[in-house]
Amino acid sequence: MSSNATPSSVFPPTLEAARARLAAVRPDAYVQTRNKLDGAVTRLSPYLTHGLLTLPDVLRAVLSRNALPVQHKLVYELGWRAYFRHVWADRGEGILTSIHPGPLPDEAYARELPADVREARTGVPVIDQAVRTLYATGWLHNHARMWLASYIVHLRKVHWRTGADWLYGHLLDGDIASNHLSWQWVAGTGSHKPYLFNAENVQRFAPAGWHSPGTLLDTPYEVLDRIARDPAAVMAAVTAAVTAVSGGAASNLGALAGSGVTEPAFLSEPPASLRAVKPTATAVRGRDVWLVHPWSLGALPNDLPSGALVLGIVVDDFHRAFPWAPRRWDFVSGRMAAVAPLRWQGSAQAIASALAQARSVAAIDEPHLSPWLAGCADTRPPARLFPPVAGRCDSFTQWWTRTTEGLRHAHELTR
Ligand SMILES: Cc1cc2nc3c(=O)[nH]c(=O)nc-3n(C[C@H](O)[C@H](O)[C@H](O)COP(=O)(O)OP(=O)(O)OC[C@H]3O[C@@H](n4cnc5c(N)ncnc54)[C@H](O)[C@@H]3O)c2cc1C
Repeated sequence: MSSNATPSSVFPPTLEAARARLAAVRPDAYVQTRNKLDGAVTRLSPYLTHGLLTLPDVLRAVLSRNALPVQHKLVYELGWRAYFRHVWADRGEGILTSIHPGPLPDEAYARELPADVREARTGVPVIDQAVRTLYATGWLHNHARMWLASYIVHLRKVHWRTGADWLYGHLLDGDIASNHLSWQWVAGTGSHKPYLFNAENVQRFAPAGWHSPGTLLDTPYEVLDRIARDPAAVMAAVTAAVTAVSGGAASNLGALAGSGVTEPAFLSEPPASLRAVKPTATAVRGRDVWLVHPWSLGALPNDLPSGALVLGIVVDDFHRAFPWAPRRWDFVSGRMAAVAPLRWQGSAQAIASALAQARSVAAIDEPHLSPWLAGCADTRPPARLFPPVAGRCDSFTQWWTRTTEGLRHAHELTR
């Protein structure tokens, strides 16, 4: 299957690009401006998600230029990624369903994302800008993700899981733990209350083109909270706004009228440019194999046996459940083709049965491929930055307190 997406210029899938982003990280500016859409956030997430960088790589590089306390905001945010992985390891597939009831029962939410949201023609500038940016770059600022998720769940009454699967597929950094658990946090099924925002909040943190005065977001928080808890609320207001935009009725949303975009189609297979072939035992018989999967696209380990075959794999079982937009496939394929001279695409069973002929098979462990990977390869644990915390932590604060207990300087994490 071929992909029509142009390769992402914002996030080239190379180690050089990842390292250049790392060299540009400014911890002081991060603290001051990170909540603004044009603030000094790192944009490292696609490289972290796909293993071109690890959390220890990031912290070591930053600390080589600036000493930081362990309680520095950047270290704390890196902690969120590790915390979500901790929750995933603890709850497994349980993170794909509501952890506890939110403001409304699950059945009160629709299971389909409305076309006007998908096509960026809701008439609410902050939402339409977010969707356009997502499709154009494969990346969104954290605040834009929160706004988009909150609008979809609380104002459009779409189930968080529907929104999470959709966003996951379009993001270059889509990660089942960080994404699905963040949606649960916004929805109020993984936190104590729903996350809500209004036009004033957007005005504070986003550039002018995102401001949304005069829309249904131009509302006090008490009203938004009532709406979030009322299954029937706002549909009339939403319908009127969408009609005004698509039908050209007189409206202060007129600037966006008729300006929808086409959603990139999700694909459950890599592009033809990856040149992935079906698994065959003859290609690996008697050989030492190092498996490279979409979450382990970093530099190769320097202790591979001589003559080891570096084999890229795309496991159909996963992508049938979680398809990706072409941009993400291009990112992954570009890097995988550069690092692995042979690539296989097939079912978990077909790959495992061909690999059974190899002398040895090793890979970096990855929960997106669990439990299948551990069944056919000797897995090495992914690089860890924060000390493991035993037992369940139901809040980030609880986990953070335990994992950083007794530490003062961030460099103590990298020893
Ligand atoms: C609805 C929603 C969906 C999200 N989906 C994803 C996802 O699929 N994948 C993903 O990596 N992040 C996700 N996030 C978290 C966060 O938005 C992104 O990690 C961050 O915006 C990436 O940009 P950055 O690299 O510039 O982050 P920075 O602010 O520069 O932070 C540096 C790194 O720290 C980690 N990080 C920072 N904030 C968070 C956070 N809140 N949660 C988890 N990790 C964090 C990321 O690895 C990030 O690359 C989601 C957040 C929300 C609200």
